[in-house]
Amino acid sequence: MFDIENVRADFPILDREIYGRRLIYLDNAATTQKPSRVIAKIEEVYKRYNSNIHRSVSKLAAVCTDEYENARKIVCGFINAENTCEIVFTSGTTAAINLLAFAFGEKFVGEGDEIVVCESEHHSNIVPWQLLCERKNAVLKVLPFNDKGELKTELLDEILTERTRLLCVAQATNVLGTVNPLDEIVRKAHAKGVYVLVDGAQGIQHLKTDVRASDFDFYVFSGHKIYAPTGTGILYGKEHLLEQLPPWQGGGDMVNRVSFAKTTYADLPLKFEAGTSNYVGAIGLGEALSYLIYKGMDEICSYEKELTDYALEKISSIPGITIYGTSANKVGIASFLAEGIHHADMGEILDKTGVAVRTGRMCADPTVQHFGLTGLVRASWTFYNTKTEIDSLCESIEKAKKILG
Ligand code: PLP
Repeated sequence: MFDIENVRADFPILDREIYGRRLIYLDNAATTQKPSRVIAKIEEVYKRYNSNIHRSVSKLAAVCTDEYENARKIVCGFINAENTCEIVFTSGTTAAINLLAFAFGEKFVGEGDEIVVCESEHHSNIVPWQLLCERKNAVLKVLPFNDKGELKTELLDEILTERTRLLCVAQATNVLGTVNPLDEIVRKAHAKGVYVLVDGAQGIQHLKTDVRASDFDFYVFSGHKIYAPTGTGILYGKEHLLEQLPPWQGGGDMVNRVSFAKTTYADLPLKFEAGTSNYVGAIGLGEALSYLIYKGMDEICSYEKELTDYALEKISSIPGITIYGTSANKVGIASFLAEGIHHADMGEILDKTGVAVRTGRMCADPTVQHFGLTGLVRASWTFYNTKTEIDSLCESIEKAKKILG
């Protein structure tokens, strides 16, 4: 049985007060809070065995390296990758996509080739591809979404051509919360020989993810959005693809032998992990995923589904509120506006009542522009939030309407 009070007790920050009220943290799409286990793990590393990994011969370094490589195994199992060499530690989704845009671009993209991105992507899954296309004289194409926030996948038949090299799509979108139909997208792309990168930044923490069953070629996510430390993230790639890509950054740990005549590179995954990595954060990421495994992803998903149904129904029934993104298949995100009220003003009043949300363009200008808006208020919840907190959000929205309306 999923015990919400036990879950909440695992996250110490949820107990604190803001402006004299108990914090209601509904900004989980921006970053998530950390369970005590993860905080304790980081402390354990620094107090007991901090030492640079893969280098020193000391006992400390051996323990630290084992913990780091064990974290890689945990990530591998969590997304059901075939081999730990397919799991590259990065500093986040953004770093993972930039790595891929460089390395994939060097290997597979030439003048006149095409990269497809979706209109509803975060800037992190747009701008690196624009930079690549500028560098290579390649063409960036866009798969649009409809007013419900669902991708117009019927257009893929004409958008994907023999020149398309890669299709980049979010598992779930960060403004509208839409869960994209990846089975269909991957099938259509692969039928045309197009590789697929899935941005899991808003998906990994809410949806059971199996990169092998889903046949993703590349998959990326950020640790900080899945209860792990900031500055951590993952690039997953099929082994035979990562093997073909050149390194992105040069430095320590990513080489086999260095000489002025010829330098050879380390095997996967270290080929892509130049320099001292955020190994403490990576160990924390392993701990966060172990925590989720312990709690049960099935239980988490079904609790979140119930909370999302409740929240969307409740928020949308407030008079004068419009929710943007009305697909039937959504993660826990409601981006909304109250008639006649600026998003920043709404955000400020909510904050003063102890409710933390995000406002603005949310690093997704094309999505916000699609609706002709300048910004939105975004409430985003996860498995430690409750229906009572959603009720408080709605009361605070009503209060803000009275003050500002
Ligand atoms: N992709 C999506 C869908 C996101 O929501 C975010 C962050 O909000 C990112 C990419 C970028 O993640 P990060 O800033 O952790 O690199």
